[in-house]
Amino acid sequence: MQKLYNFCRLIYFSEKGFVMIELPKLPFADNALEPFISEETIKYHYYKHHATYVNKLNELIEGTKYDELSLSSIIRDSEGAMFNNAAQVFNHTFYWNSLSPSKLNPSGKLLTKIDNDFGSLEALKEEFIKAGTTLFGSGWVWLVREPKGKLMLKKTENAHTPLSSHLTPLFVCDVWEHAYYIDYRNLRPKYLEEFWDHINWDFVMKTFEKTDNDVFIGIEPCNDIHDPFCQILDDLQNGDRVTS
Ligand code: MN
Repeated sequence: MQKLYNFCRLIYFSEKGFVMIELPKLPFADNALEPFISEETIKYHYYKHHATYVNKLNELIEGTKYDELSLSSIIRDSEGAMFNNAAQVFNHTFYWNSLSPSKLNPSGKLLTKIDNDFGSLEALKEEFIKAGTTLFGSGWVWLVREPKGKLMLKKTENAHTPLSSHLTPLFVCDVWEHAYYIDYRNLRPKYLEEFWDHINWDFVMKTFEKTDNDVFIGIEPCNDIHDPFCQILDDLQNGDRVTS
């Protein structure tokens, strides 16, 4: 398999000769999140659901103008099944990176920003639980940064993603039932409480600091190698495959 580095995408040529989107490795062991998220849930959620979005996306882009675009470009330029699968690939990658096996805490500039924009970390938690509980049906709850730099919570339905709204995502919680039903059945609020205690604040702070600018840095088009979020997307999507 041949590869080359092209801005926001490590490019793999398949046996058939087109450029494939890869399933990024999980940033932790399959059982590392237990008992918050069981290995059984990971077996379905990552190895079945996430992998299927990647496979379907590759089927859909093959032979089209999209098979040379970065994932973020596909998300911004497509609709229907291609958008749904591309956005779900990104959303899930961001979700896994939002999770930590151990309890972490925000600090420094990010904590100050949370205090300024939400009142306190506890107030953000309350707002997060409320947002996740009131999202009807399937979707995602995101901590995002607005173009002018303010932090806010954003709910998106189905596959929708802040990348379409020019918002910079900082963490995301998957509230599709497949994310929690094996471990929590219908108790979504309990899952949200446990999620809060497993947020990878180190990842959130890293993303926050790389995009810490009152001027919107712009994540569209994702073709600028100096765009910090572009590099984050790169790291997320390609992981250690860059050197493999
Ligand atoms: Mn999911």
